[in-house]
Amino acid sequence: MSNSTKYVFVTGGVTSSLGKGIISASLAKLLQARGYTTTIQKLDPYINIDPGTLNPYEHGECFVTDDGAETDLDLGHYERFLNVPTSQANNVTTGRIYQSVIEKERRGDYLGKTVQVIPHITDEIKERIQAVAKNGTFDIVITEIGGTVGDIESLPYVEAVRQMLWEHENDCIVVHLTLIPYLSAAGELKTKPTQHSVKQLLELGVQPDVLCCRTEHELELGLRQKIAKFCNVSVNAVIEARDAASIYDVPLLMQAEELDTVVLEKLGLSKKQAPKLENWKAFLDRLKNPQHTVKIGLVGKYVELKDAYKSISEAFIHAGVANETKVELSWIHSESFTEENAAQALQGLDGILVAPGFGSRGIDGKIAAVQYARTNNIPFLGICLGMQIAVIEFARNVLGLSDAHSTEMSEQTKAPVISMMEEQKLISNMGGTMRLGAYKCELKPNSNAAKAYQTINITERHRHRYEFNNDYLEQYEAQGMIATGKNPETGLVEVVEIPNHPWFVGVQFHPEYKSTVDAPHPLFVGFVKAALNHQSK
Ligand code: GLN
Repeated sequence: MSNSTKYVFVTGGVTSSLGKGIISASLAKLLQARGYTTTIQKLDPYINIDPGTLNPYEHGECFVTDDGAETDLDLGHYERFLNVPTSQANNVTTGRIYQSVIEKERRGDYLGKTVQVIPHITDEIKERIQAVAKNGTFDIVITEIGGTVGDIESLPYVEAVRQMLWEHENDCIVVHLTLIPYLSAAGELKTKPTQHSVKQLLELGVQPDVLCCRTEHELELGLRQKIAKFCNVSVNAVIEARDAASIYDVPLLMQAEELDTVVLEKLGLSKKQAPKLENWKAFLDRLKNPQHTVKIGLVGKYVELKDAYKSISEAFIHAGVANETKVELSWIHSESFTEENAAQALQGLDGILVAPGFGSRGIDGKIAAVQYARTNNIPFLGICLGMQIAVIEFARNVLGLSDAHSTEMSEQTKAPVISMMEEQKLISNMGGTMRLGAYKCELKPNSNAAKAYQTINITERHRHRYEFNNDYLEQYEAQGMIATGKNPETGLVEVVEIPNHPWFVGVQFHPEYKSTVDAPHPLFVGFVKAALNHQSK
């Protein structure tokens, strides 16, 4: 363990969905703004190797890092708040821990010992926690433990935390996030569930240092004293975490509660400077005082679950702020309309986005949405599957290839305008086998994409198996759909545009993963600007 790195563990109690990810990201933001290099890690107790094979209905969006890791969506929050890329090391699951221990056992690394949860699994967990510190690159590592204290599957993680606290007493603290429910019949906030959840941690040998209390009402001093007394924490370490209008308010709310100073005190670190949050505050100010409003339709098949498109909706918040515009997202289910009633479903929109996705469900609605945007000159952004759909729609309705499809949806199509990459054809495993992570792309000067990025050399993150089929490229370009972005090494088409449309851009990559508060994504900024122009016509 590097001498310089300090560790903050964030656990959760009482219920799930208390927002550990946002609290962790907010604390990290405050520490970063004081001048500490900070990173955040998420430990997920489930047995999947990574969330790549999970249906979005389970845990929401799968976030992708530059190094091609398919990760929990909380990593998206970490990047959006800190503006520092994460990597595979920032997300570890039980599946990955066991996989690695079992591989070591097969190699004979344990020299004939019985391999057990303690010490072998917990050692592996501790190694993963310390690996993320990268030998002192980071002053502070915040490790968020997924799930709720008391879950069977999170026990080894809590045990690993106990050992870390015991081995490195002065370098580790625990922040426990808990719920203080309000009973309206009694007109009171109740502390008992928090007492129980701290007791549960104590039974496992872990005394939390700080309690972040999610509450819908003010935590008065008397209540804070009561919580402090029952849970053995100092009164100033009982932090009120009220519901906020925007997740981007939370760092300032935590600053007002002095979460950062309490944490630094307990870690034995100096406060350095007051947090430098000028840019953050300016962002919030613009977020709350927009000059314009645009309405953008997000067409997808998981729209009833907004977490499935988390990075996209956050990217619109960033791009809206950059344009001093409130982006109202209209969530449109791709199964709810067809070519016949598309006009009805999509009228009044200033822009249309067709979302990423897998499989056949909702494809016809997505094709109808592209056709509507293309023929009515409505700004359009297609992401990954959304770009592929734009290519299919153009083939069917402009090139006259009525049967055109992606081989993902139709293996027998006579016009496979989207098809599988050769190297994908031999792969049978589902997990971690797509084109994943950052790839270079070269843009055509003067394209809408190049204008948005203000450069022609970009790098963007991918997550897909299928590609634009270059056998058809000449036909497309002759009829007005141009490949304005290509992978310089492989020639794969990464961006398509229709120059005689006001703003029609399809991208094979996922720009949404790289949008942050400090660096709103240029394509989203360009798309919102195009939507504003469309509105003013
Ligand atoms: N299903 C498509 C593919 O695998 C698109 C994937 C996506 O939208 N992320 O290529």
